[in-house]
Amino acid sequence: MNQYLIRANELKEEMVANRRHFHRYPEVRNELFETTKYVREKLEEMGYEVEEICQCGLVAVAGGKKPGKCILIRGDMDALPMPEETGLPFSSENPGAMHACGHDFHMSMLLAAAKILKENEDEIEGTVKICFQPNEETFGGAKDMIDAGILEHPHVDAALAIHIGPMADVATLDFGKGLTMGSADGFDILVKGKGCHGAAPHKGISPINIGVHIYMALQELLAREVNPAEQCTLTVGSMIFGEGATNVIPSEGHLLGTMRGFNAELTKMLKKRVEEIVTGTAKVFGGEAEVKWLFSSPAMYCDPDFTDDVVRYAADVVGAERMIPKKERATGSEDFAYFGERVPSQIFWLGGGVEDPSARISNHNPKVQFSEEALPYGAAVYVQCTMEWLKEHK
Ligand SMILES: [Zn+2]
Ligand SMILES: [Zn+2]
Repeated sequence: MNQYLIRANELKEEMVANRRHFHRYPEVRNELFETTKYVREKLEEMGYEVEEICQCGLVAVAGGKKPGKCILIRGDMDALPMPEETGLPFSSENPGAMHACGHDFHMSMLLAAAKILKENEDEIEGTVKICFQPNEETFGGAKDMIDAGILEHPHVDAALAIHIGPMADVATLDFGKGLTMGSADGFDILVKGKGCHGAAPHKGISPINIGVHIYMALQELLAREVNPAEQCTLTVGSMIFGEGATNVIPSEGHLLGTMRGFNAELTKMLKKRVEEIVTGTAKVFGGEAEVKWLFSSPAMYCDPDFTDDVVRYAADVVGAERMIPKKERATGSEDFAYFGERVPSQIFWLGGGVEDPSARISNHNPKVQFSEEALPYGAAVYVQCTMEWLKEHK
């Protein structure tokens, strides 16, 4: 058995305890004050110096005793703003927050990896930056950490992330090459009309009517202006108009949604067209509308050479038969893509499905559960990949 997996198995009880602590006390966005306090304490106990380079973004560095390159390993820490319905004994005690994306696993795995790296620090042929990132779910955290300089001093040459997945068998590792996950651009369209009595619509301008026309036009934008060979989506997830009255034309309302895709040029064009359609449609009906772009994350690019390397190393941990090349690109997004834009990167999807496949539910669901059997594998993959990659790329 792989030496780091043996060690990670010894740490399993500790990993489970950490994971359950994080699960019980989830925090969202970059307001991870208790979470980062806990992570910092654990890292300091191991002998690390911990730096907070942006709000609730922590970095610790291992190695640096032998010359070599620098590799970054990343775990995200934020939960989702949603209530939990798993019924687990360690369910969320923070109302309206839940680790439904498995980031509690990511922190636990990265802490165990940090411990094993520290135990093997003299053998590290270069430097490992251990990155605890906030605010993945709204796509702000990776960019904040990069803007704060995480990729420099020393310069980072490659980056690896692991995301737990609740649908796959434990300890399978799903990976892709090239563009593997879509970009994401969130929007909030404010539509302004003129409120009036519902019995006298001619005295007002209905923002609902404008909103519905904008909705239709946005769907037609994809159908009529995008090459069918492209893979992209535009979804309006919320239309918020009125206060529940039957006889009031409200004065304004919102359409909220996201665009996903794999072609940055196309996304740029579509964003411009969305703005033109929104303002133009509102004008046709005598109202006004504007688009506010809420967030943006690029498409995830996995460097083929780096991927070949880490797939080879990770196979030593989980077994070659459990390394699963992605069959198709996912339109879902990950802000680790900001790292992928800048340095050779890979994000592995670690299988963490519960034993009974029929009981598996996707992440972001209030009932989702993950198998803690996956924890040692995640920690060992982090360590094996960093140690071996640094050794082979002196
Ligand atoms: Zn998520
Ligand atoms: Zn996630």
